[in-house]
Amino acid sequence: MKVITSIKEMQSELSKQKSLGKEIGYVPTMGFLHEGHLTLLNKARQENEIVVLSIFVNPLQFGPTEDFSTYPRDFERDRALAEAERIDYLFYPSVEEMYPNDSSVKVVVQDRTDVLCGASRPGHFNGVATVITKFFNIMMPTRAYFGKKDAQQVAVIAGLIADFHFPIELIAVDIVREKDGLAKSSRNINLLPEERQQATILYKSLQIAKKAIDEGERNPLGLINMISEMITSESNGQIDYVEIFSYPQLKQLEKLEGTIIIALAVKFTKVRLIDNLIMHIE
Ligand code: AMP
Repeated sequence: MKVITSIKEMQSELSKQKSLGKEIGYVPTMGFLHEGHLTLLNKARQENEIVVLSIFVNPLQFGPTEDFSTYPRDFERDRALAEAERIDYLFYPSVEEMYPNDSSVKVVVQDRTDVLCGASRPGHFNGVATVITKFFNIMMPTRAYFGKKDAQQVAVIAGLIADFHFPIELIAVDIVREKDGLAKSSRNINLLPEERQQATILYKSLQIAKKAIDEGERNPLGLINMISEMITSESNGQIDYVEIFSYPQLKQLEKLEGTIIIALAVKFTKVRLIDNLIMHIE
């Protein structure tokens, strides 16, 4: 595995691979790798001759009061995990390498950002779309892998790929969970011990909502209230949002039908967790 920190070197390595006709799978991450990331890497390994992992905690996608400085980082551990996954290139640029001076162009996402994390984190998806546009231009991969844990991000990236004509196939990968159902996240380490226990209610409440839908419930508001009450009564977390929308359009629904997402975000002392469930209703 080659560790590369320079954009120029990364571009020249991959253009060599492409001139040899190799297919490239790309997995963007912010590091502190866990099984969720490894599942994306594993899928990329199966489907491509060359696999590139990037690790970059992107300052542009964090708000001024968010956890950029406390976001967990451990490069040596990540490097060993990437090595074990047989990654070909680990791209690990500095902030200065990615943003050398005040940018003259940034990507602005117009659609689907007035809800969920887009509403709670103003500018977040512009930061994501800008950095992913830069990474796509550096890598020009055959396929790019994203987790459905960040389902709104998947929808935004699908729009970015379509609108900017990137010849890249987007592969969305299912959420990987802990044994007790908590979605794996680099941020879980910043939960206090009692919060780690309480955080299982996020997934449990989604499962109970799914059961209610399977049994015929079609009223979004009733389900939203039910989930909110469960989270409030079983944890000290502050609900940021609990919402149900069509997916991937992220439009409000009067009645549940078609493909829907139940999405939630809950703030604990030092960390805000998200989770979701996507399902199809006949
Ligand atoms: P992050 O490092 O948190 O930016 O995540 C990098 C990629 O891994 C994103 O596409 C995430 O959606 C994905 N990812 C993170 N956690 C999980 C998980 N538990 N299951 C599946 N994908 C995940």
